[in-house]
Amino acid sequence: MFKIVLDSNPSLRKKCEDFDKPYTEQDHKLLTDMVEYLKNSQDEEFCKLHKDVEPGVGLALPQIGINKRGFAIYLNDGKSLYQYGLLNPKILRTSVKQAYLDGGEACLSVPNKHPGVVLRYNKVVLQAYDVLTKKDVEITAYGYLAICLQHEYDHLDGILYYDRINKKNPLYVPEGAIAI
Ligand code: ZN
Repeated sequence: MFKIVLDSNPSLRKKCEDFDKPYTEQDHKLLTDMVEYLKNSQDEEFCKLHKDVEPGVGLALPQIGINKRGFAIYLNDGKSLYQYGLLNPKILRTSVKQAYLDGGEACLSVPNKHPGVVLRYNKVVLQAYDVLTKKDVEITAYGYLAICLQHEYDHLDGILYYDRINKKNPLYVPEGAIAI
């Protein structure tokens, strides 16, 4: 079980360091455990038994107190299941088109609500090493998955989702941005 670092902790604001290569067995286990944690967190019975666990689709290493560049995703968008344990991710390309989650974003590290539009790219191409397949991967993601990848990636640079909400007009949606 992981203890989640909350946004009151300044360590969440640090820029994280890359993993050294070759990746170790320990690195693989850590990220695999994080994917498993997210999977369990989406199980109602599991959450009933473990009161401190909240359901999540993404978890970045700084959120469990490790300031290194890696994050886990476990996301079922109704059509496909996406699961990754990513080390040293890099965003290679982004779309011009912007997107945002209609209901706003949430974060396991942010207990307070921060309503507002969090603008993201509708598409990202991300390169990383995936511990689940033990391969370098290039993920082309759209919509919800693309937004999750950007949310987790931001954690590695010490950025939280509410930093991206327009302060003067939190509900501002620029022309062409699509609701997901
Ligand atoms: Zn988060």
